[in-house]
Amino acid sequence: MKNSGLLLVISGPAGAGKGTVVSKLVKDENIRLSISATTRAPRGKEENGREYYFYGREQFEKMISENGFIEYAQYLENYYGTPKRPVEEWRKEGKDVILEIEVQGCEKVKNSVPDCISIFIMPPSMEILEKRLRGRGTETEENIQKRMKRAKEELALAKNYDYVVVNDTLEDCVENVKAIITAEKLSSQRLSFDI
Ligand code: ADP
Ligand code: 5GP
Repeated sequence: MKNSGLLLVISGPAGAGKGTVVSKLVKDENIRLSISATTRAPRGKEENGREYYFYGREQFEKMISENGFIEYAQYLENYYGTPKRPVEEWRKEGKDVILEIEVQGCEKVKNSVPDCISIFIMPPSMEILEKRLRGRGTETEENIQKRMKRAKEELALAKNYDYVVVNDTLEDCVENVKAIITAEKLSSQRLSFDI
């Protein structure tokens, strides 16, 4: 019997490098990235259906009422949620699926999908985190301040994750996440034996 794919939840404060790390992981054709829906406005070169599905508040709330999300949460002033259907279909096909979501969402996924694997991407320091967030050039000063404040709260929750990976050198961070995926696939709890 074919094993269903892994469900990987990746969190970490804004600017830690989650998006950068995930963009390397999805080069593997067995890995899919879930595209979330959000009520926040697109920033920079973001396109609807590529980085996010950009929904109005009403549209988002309709999808909540139709039970269309695996999880959803509010981060700063906006809703963010993981559409259920693609994730379920990919896992059935044996693809590993990554959810790049914030800490409240991770808690909800853990409750509804207990075999998910949670990974916290940790910045090397708060100074480097702020430098990366500013260096990305996507946020207003007000947003940087809000995200840094939220980052402190999020870092305190890293211990609730199955794994914590520091994103110091990008290549090392990506290799460490790949090592986690490899080890989890070999876990006796997940394998179904034909013999
Ligand atoms: P997140 O998705 O966690 O908000 P990003 O992936 O957008 O973070 O990364 C924030 C900024 O930091 C980007 O400009 C990115 O190029 C840079 N960055 C990511 N990882 C590293 C790293 N290991 N070393 C240096 N810069 C990095
Ligand atoms: P950003 O506005 O920087 O794209 O995302 C803000 C935060 O929301 C990040 O921590 C990101 O991981 C998280 N996020 C993105 N999509 C989802 C989602 O579907 N659900 C939850 N709970 N968080 C999400």
